[in-house]
Amino acid sequence: MAFKLLEGKAITQPIRDETQRQAISLQEQGWSPRLASLEIGHNPAAALYIRNQKRVANMLGIAFENRKFPQEITQWEMLAAIHAMNVDPHVTGIIIQRPVPVHLDLKQLQLAIAPAKDVEGMNPTNIGKVVYNDFVLGPCTSQASVELLKATGLEMKGLEVVIVGHSEIVGKPIALHLLAELATVTICHHGTRNLMTHTRRADALFVAVGKPGLITGDMIKPGTAVIDIGINQIEITDGDGQPQIKTVGDVDFDSAHEVAGWITPVPGGVGPATLSILMRNVVAATAMQKAAYEHAMLEN
Ligand code: NAP
Repeated sequence: MAFKLLEGKAITQPIRDETQRQAISLQEQGWSPRLASLEIGHNPAAALYIRNQKRVANMLGIAFENRKFPQEITQWEMLAAIHAMNVDPHVTGIIIQRPVPVHLDLKQLQLAIAPAKDVEGMNPTNIGKVVYNDFVLGPCTSQASVELLKATGLEMKGLEVVIVGHSEIVGKPIALHLLAELATVTICHHGTRNLMTHTRRADALFVAVGKPGLITGDMIKPGTAVIDIGINQIEITDGDGQPQIKTVGDVDFDSAHEVAGWITPVPGGVGPATLSILMRNVVAATAMQKAAYEHAMLEN
């Protein structure tokens, strides 16, 4: 089957272009979008994400400031740092780089970010708005995944969608976005009996689990759109017999692409699309803060 590759950067380039246009316009009005990144301790994978975020932010006219915190910082000290950024008018978006040291409660830190600066869309206030399909700052990865599906041109209404993985920040919001488009949505998880019976009837299959090779070609209906959200590092042996680390998704690409109509590569699919949405959220957050400020000034 001739499959089509859903490449995240190319597909979401129009979002990046529009984000850049809006960032410049906001700067001209005295409101510079600025993303504060919180890096706690050091992790090589996080360092790579931070470099990518900085590169894309700067390309689009968004200031990017990586603030480093020591590995042994306490929860209270981190909460205080977040509260200080919440009230700093120069910071218009906040992102906590993962993983964080195990002694910290990540969920509590994310909750502490002011909803108007929560550019990852992880605060319950922002997730709650997704339930009503009336949101500005939605979770980045779920929106990115849906953008990639829409790039297929498939009609969303009545589409049989199967989502494997039901996390609060990926699987569940994807379901909510697509319910709003009148797709028929099935969510699979650990408790699902016979995963294959569900995946084989999907017109569109989203996989967000974190298990390499979970979905193989025989589990997919011919012509389906496969959106692979998983990111896993596996060890392989190169041509010289040397061990190498390779990044793969949750879908076995080699067998799946022979059956799929469309498929996202890993890396290069959902990852770069997620970056595009993150930057769009930073600019949207800045615009919201500007509007709130102007409204408050009018009332005074
Ligand atoms: P998570 O919170 O660990 O959720 C994983 C989900 O998979 C859970 O809902 C879990 O269900 C389900 N699951 C586990 N084993 C399963 C099985 N055998 N069959 C069906 N479902 C199963 O992870 P996440 O944050 O959603 O991330 C998922 C993957 O996406 C990870 O690889 C992560 O690195 C990647 N990711 C990528 C991006 C990106 O930008 N590309 C962004 C975020 C995440 P139970 O709770 O019932 O066990």
